[in-house]
Amino acid sequence: MEQPVVMGVMPEVVPEQAFSSSTINASKPDDCYSTKSLPGVWNNIAGIGNDLKKKNIQVQTVLDKRIVNNGVIWRCGLTPDGSFTVNALRSRWDYRTPLTNKNFHWIKEIPLKVSCFIWRAQWGRIPTAKELVKRGVNMENLTCQMCNVKEETADHILVDCAYAKKVMEGVMRWCKVHTHMEDLQAVSDVLNLANKWGTCTKKRKIFLVICYSTLWRIWIARNEKVFKRNRLPPEKVIEYVKLVTFLWVKNKGIKMNLIWANWSQCPFFF
Ligand SMILES: [Zn+2]
Repeated sequence: MEQPVVMGVMPEVVPEQAFSSSTINASKPDDCYSTKSLPGVWNNIAGIGNDLKKKNIQVQTVLDKRIVNNGVIWRCGLTPDGSFTVNALRSRWDYRTPLTNKNFHWIKEIPLKVSCFIWRAQWGRIPTAKELVKRGVNMENLTCQMCNVKEETADHILVDCAYAKKVMEGVMRWCKVHTHMEDLQAVSDVLNLANKWGTCTKKRKIFLVICYSTLWRIWIARNEKVFKRNRLPPEKVIEYVKLVTFLWVKNKGIKMNLIWANWSQCPFFF
């Protein structure tokens, strides 16, 4: 464990001495900061370590210490030059979600924008009608435009909606994965199913790719309806999922000799 900072050692940010996060000591935040030794705003930051942790923000990101030859330097990881600003912390605070058990896999075969979308969707942070209202947008109608029955939330539009269920059901049939559709009500239910499915790691990864792609294509279909008044038949969405996942898996990393004729029948015939 590092020694606590001694009163009098200057906890000064030295931008030119800013260091890479890869060199950060992995000590627990509480171990490597002494609130007594930090003046002013730095003291406050160290003092709210527990609050930051609840928001899944590492104290080291906001304020980090490095021992150098002539003493200690401090750096704020929220700004390019290492200096602290309240705005930078505020932005990070608003962006970060609370720490929970949700487990998310970033898969290299999946385009980053799709992974980011799914990551945000499982937290409900995609621009559904309900979410837009929360952000202060004036919406006349909060009802899901795919079923006209329930309020449009991320979990509803992507999983719980009758339209989404039809698409998901078709995809599960194609994958020959037997599951009770009524058990799937939220994005996290779909991700949990995929994360635990089967015993073959390679097949599970492909199934995850397919599930991400399905959620993504359902959202594209929703946008097509909301913005272009065009309702894609679920069968069409299922065909898109088959085609897109074939291209992703074949071209983006999982080294396999895939044949479309087989893939279109079932993605696990190999
Ligand atoms: Zn709906």
